[in-house]
Amino acid sequence: MLILMKATATLRETAQVLALSESQDLRPYLSRADGRRVVALTSEDATLTGQFRGLPGVEEVRPLASGIKLTSRQFRSADGVVVVGGERGARRVSIGHGSLTVIAGPCAVEDRQTLLAAAHAVRDAGADMLRGGAFKPRTSPYAFQGLGVRGLELLAEAREVTALPFVTEVLSVDDLPVVAEHTDMLQIGARNMQNFALLRAVGETGRPVLLKRGMMATVDELLMSAEYILATGNDSVVLCERGIRTFETSTRNTLDIAAVPVLRRRTHLPIIIDPSHAAGHRDLVAPLALAAAAAGASGLLIEVHPEPDRAATDAEQTLPTAGFAALVRRLHAVHDAGAARGS
Ligand code: PEP
Ligand code: MN
Repeated sequence: MLILMKATATLRETAQVLALSESQDLRPYLSRADGRRVVALTSEDATLTGQFRGLPGVEEVRPLASGIKLTSRQFRSADGVVVVGGERGARRVSIGHGSLTVIAGPCAVEDRQTLLAAAHAVRDAGADMLRGGAFKPRTSPYAFQGLGVRGLELLAEAREVTALPFVTEVLSVDDLPVVAEHTDMLQIGARNMQNFALLRAVGETGRPVLLKRGMMATVDELLMSAEYILATGNDSVVLCERGIRTFETSTRNTLDIAAVPVLRRRTHLPIIIDPSHAAGHRDLVAPLALAAAAAGASGLLIEVHPEPDRAATDAEQTLPTAGFAALVRRLHAVHDAGAARGS
């Protein structure tokens, strides 16, 4: 249930709501929406609902049994901002609230020289963050699986020399401690969007999370997965649309561009777009990225490699560094035009 306090409710009245929640062994989540304090609880118990309605300062108690709670605009009306980096020599990046954050780098960390060259190139081109997979989810068990811990160490070295914070995927609860120790932001890949044990565990680390939409998941399912992370008390979650599987074969996936305005209406969490995995082809990345900026996305996740044809994974969809630099300039022009129009 969502307990909406009156605009005039005092701190003492809100404290009474929190105390009653805790006396029932329920964890209260406190927020603000439309200038009022809001308390979310995971229970929909009817007697309890009545008790909350009777407390001073309570305006309304809304049931939210099957819907989203902590990710909803009803719980928090203002756009959220997720802060990444700001430690271990990395710059501080704020994702959301009108900014356009560009995250770029190779699909996978392959070797020291290539990663450092990619990191310098994307930074010089205007990227705010570095991406790179150390633990790779591959369709075939015989394909390159990533460098593992060595890949994380190389990403940390790239952060040291470029000051770019990085995001990297964590594939399993077993790998989580070592990935969380190195990275600035944990990525949950499309294939793990509904790995609920992993969602809870990444939430518990308190680190910012980039949650990718599953290739066969609805917007509702994506939000429910985000709820798992927020329910741990970690609200540093960025959603990522990366294309869904449809009957269309001319692209690797179909980019659901409508997910940007749909999610912006429903949730305070920032939404970014990954045009690379949606497109599957290098020449389609720029138009999809520009469309995302025009649609109001808070950022982009783009695969870039100094020699894309040599990339060990996802070569076909990976941009060369020069093409990426040109794209970043156009992205900011589109974003600034949208901001001027107020979209
Ligand atoms: C990735 O970003 O490296 C990746 C594997 O993407 P996805 O999970 O969206 O397929
Ligand atoms: Mn990839």
